[in-house]
Amino acid sequence: MSVIMKGSEVSARMKEMLLAQVACLKKEGITPRISLVRVGNNPSDLAYERGILKRFNPLGIETEIHELPEDIPQSDFNAEFMRVNDDARTHGILLFRPLPERLSSSYVCLNINPNKDIDGMCPVNEARIFEGGSEGFAPCTASAVMTMLTQYGYDPAGKNVVIVGRSMVIGRPLSMLMLRANATVTICHSRTQNLPEVCRRADIVVAAVGHAKMLTPEYFTKKSVVVDVGINTDSEGNMCGDVDFERVSPVVQAISPVPGGVGAVTTSVLAENLIKSAKLLG
Ligand code: NAP
Repeated sequence: MSVIMKGSEVSARMKEMLLAQVACLKKEGITPRISLVRVGNNPSDLAYERGILKRFNPLGIETEIHELPEDIPQSDFNAEFMRVNDDARTHGILLFRPLPERLSSSYVCLNINPNKDIDGMCPVNEARIFEGGSEGFAPCTASAVMTMLTQYGYDPAGKNVVIVGRSMVIGRPLSMLMLRANATVTICHSRTQNLPEVCRRADIVVAAVGHAKMLTPEYFTKKSVVVDVGINTDSEGNMCGDVDFERVSPVVQAISPVPGGVGAVTTSVLAENLIKSAKLLG
């Protein structure tokens, strides 16, 4: 029987720890506060926002939503973002990305306070993650993969880990987190040759590709531990991952589903990072 790694189980386990940490901060007179910055009304941003509010409200975390118009000029967007950044009451900022195509996030990435950058988008945090220390914030989705594996007892130390995808949001930071956890890491991408064979040699495979059900049973063995980060829509309009869950789940050691996998852990990691930033900033 394969192990199904469920995000809801991981989040439920993390909830007790997060509640205790918020209680400790409140005793010191600090209530963690997050600012969400959203441009327009993209349905996936709104879904993520609802998920954050649902997770954060019971934890006693304060949330503030900054909804900016879809047609906001670049200079106004930069100014609005910096106003949020400079607000002493805010401990952490989440910018919903990608932004509409005409807007650039370069200015805000370069100027966000690194200690408020709880989704790890600025160069200072990228460097900290690259250095492999415990300081700094990695993008929450990459951290959520590590949390999922650890919580289910799959320690990457000494294991062969294949990450399919090399984006700045998932593949690259995750490879650094895996390295920090003493895994032997292979990063794959669209030019990788013999991808199924490379994946079959791995103990742990993380799929972060963005192609619905691309990874089929030929990519795995019965020892494979599979984490699916993909969020896609299948031909019937249903949400699905990068792995063909129906066909793959019976033939591997463990697998995370989509929906109900990594995505559900991401908001808990965001809360964890916010608590860390509230401790740093006071
Ligand atoms: P991305 O920026 O488009 O990167 C995709 C990566 O996959 C690229 O490195 C690309 O290679 C590689 N790739 C594409 N086709 C491939 C192929 N046929 N074989 C091997 N590699 C291939 O996407 P992303 O932002 O990293 O997101 C990846 C997935 O995660 C998406 O489905 C996204 O919706 C999902 N996601 C999930 C969460 C979550 O919380 N669960 C958060 C963010 C994103 P090249 O570099 O060579 O182009």
